[in-house]
Amino acid sequence: MHTIDHIYINGQFVTPHGEELFDLINPTTGQLDGRVRLGDAEDARRAIAAAKAAFPAFSRTTKAERGAMLQRLHDAVLARAEDAAAAQVEEYGGPLNTSVGRSRYTAKMFLDVKKVMDDHAFVKTVNTAEVVLEPVGVVGIITPWNSSAWFIANKVATAIAAGCTVVVKPSELSARQNQILTECFHAADLPPGVVNIVNGRGDVVGHELSVHPDVNKISFTGSTAVGKSIARLGVDTMKRVTLELGGKSANILLDDADFEKAIPAAIQACFMNNGQACIAGSRLLVPEEKLELVARLVKTAVEAVKVGDPHHAENNIGPLVNQKQFERVQRYIQIGIDEGAELIAGGVGKPAGLESGYFVKPTAFIGVNNNMTIAREEIFGPVLSVLSYKTEEEAIDIANDTPYGLQAYISSTDLNRAHRVARQIIAGRVHINGIHDDLIAPFGGFKQSGIGREFGPYGLESYLEPKAILGVEAQYL
Ligand code: NAD
Repeated sequence: MHTIDHIYINGQFVTPHGEELFDLINPTTGQLDGRVRLGDAEDARRAIAAAKAAFPAFSRTTKAERGAMLQRLHDAVLARAEDAAAAQVEEYGGPLNTSVGRSRYTAKMFLDVKKVMDDHAFVKTVNTAEVVLEPVGVVGIITPWNSSAWFIANKVATAIAAGCTVVVKPSELSARQNQILTECFHAADLPPGVVNIVNGRGDVVGHELSVHPDVNKISFTGSTAVGKSIARLGVDTMKRVTLELGGKSANILLDDADFEKAIPAAIQACFMNNGQACIAGSRLLVPEEKLELVARLVKTAVEAVKVGDPHHAENNIGPLVNQKQFERVQRYIQIGIDEGAELIAGGVGKPAGLESGYFVKPTAFIGVNNNMTIAREEIFGPVLSVLSYKTEEEAIDIANDTPYGLQAYISSTDLNRAHRVARQIIAGRVHINGIHDDLIAPFGGFKQSGIGREFGPYGLESYLEPKAILGVEAQYL
């Protein structure tokens, strides 16, 4: 059985000071597949020291030098895209097709960031001042298990583009993806200490990054609860924070939508990555007069979703990441039933023939009202809630009646109308007629979905501190 027994500090694979071995369970089989040796707070401090030592020289590199590094990172990550996809399938049951596409996209991210950096003015004139955008310093990067490599790649690429050095604390549940990505960072031949990776527990390594005085910024993606605690911990050392947190995104089908097409797209928007997606459109809002039609279409579409071994490309949905997430989703389905929502597909229990892994039945409820638990809390599994509305205004009110504000989806055959509605939705991204990828447009949340933005110029500026230099010649008061 394979044990991942090293972390990456100062350009070298080293044995962690921490000794805890964490079991890696394959979610498809429920069997032990390997182990990872976790770093501890001492390892975090070693990595922070390496990043701090590397910062002065790295912060003075030119765009051309950093651009060459981003190009090498792209090449290294692309060369391992198939391996990274396989690791995603193994680790969290990501369906094969999605995982392959996502891994190639992960590589592309380095080039997108390079372009953004090339186009960005790091020195500007604002009124009487010369404004210099300087790298914020050492960045602690803390990431979740779902699409781990993707989140790490985006944050590391942007930090490098800004001239920052980093310590990454990935989720312990994504050790194989982390390992492959670390090998890519090593292959890209970055200056030692620019990127350091420490596997470890959140409340140990993540905590150390969040409190350490030599870490200037935390870039976190994960749950809202943990994001809040990181923000609190960072206050004493006045850390900059970018927080990408949870969501409960609404998907509004306006009455002029093409329902035959919009419903399968809505199922995809909710069930992507087995429903383990912060951007899942988990609340489907439909006009009351269309409810019967929608119920029929949703039932048909959900029952057509193929659940099974994620290695097989014909399966749309694999298992959830672990037993804990499986139980959590089961609990929510039961709560939906208990609170009076009408189950039209799926339900509690595992699909027939898939008893060994953490598979759940793709599930849909209708008759959900927005006060029910399944409409308010992030479930992080393939569970869709269908809510009805009487007027467009009511649809907007329901969509906005949530503590979250990460994304929203709108379907309409009238683009002007869809845009008008989009302007009234409180969310960081609104997709019209389908799900659209854009790695340069800003990504992030309103309200409790986070603070700050990633991607593109907004993302880059979150790793930069503006310094205003005033006065051109001797003018003393
Ligand atoms: P999580 O919050 O449990 O863990 C995220 C990371 O934080 C992990 O690396 C974990 O080890 C670490 N951590 C845990 N406790 C910590 C602490 N006390 N101090 C510092 N670090 C700590 O989230 P998860 O279960 O890995 O991921 C799922 C969650 O992430 C969902 O809520 C999902 O919505 C959210 N998410 C958000 C986005 C986004 O872009 N907005 C993207 C993906 C996932």
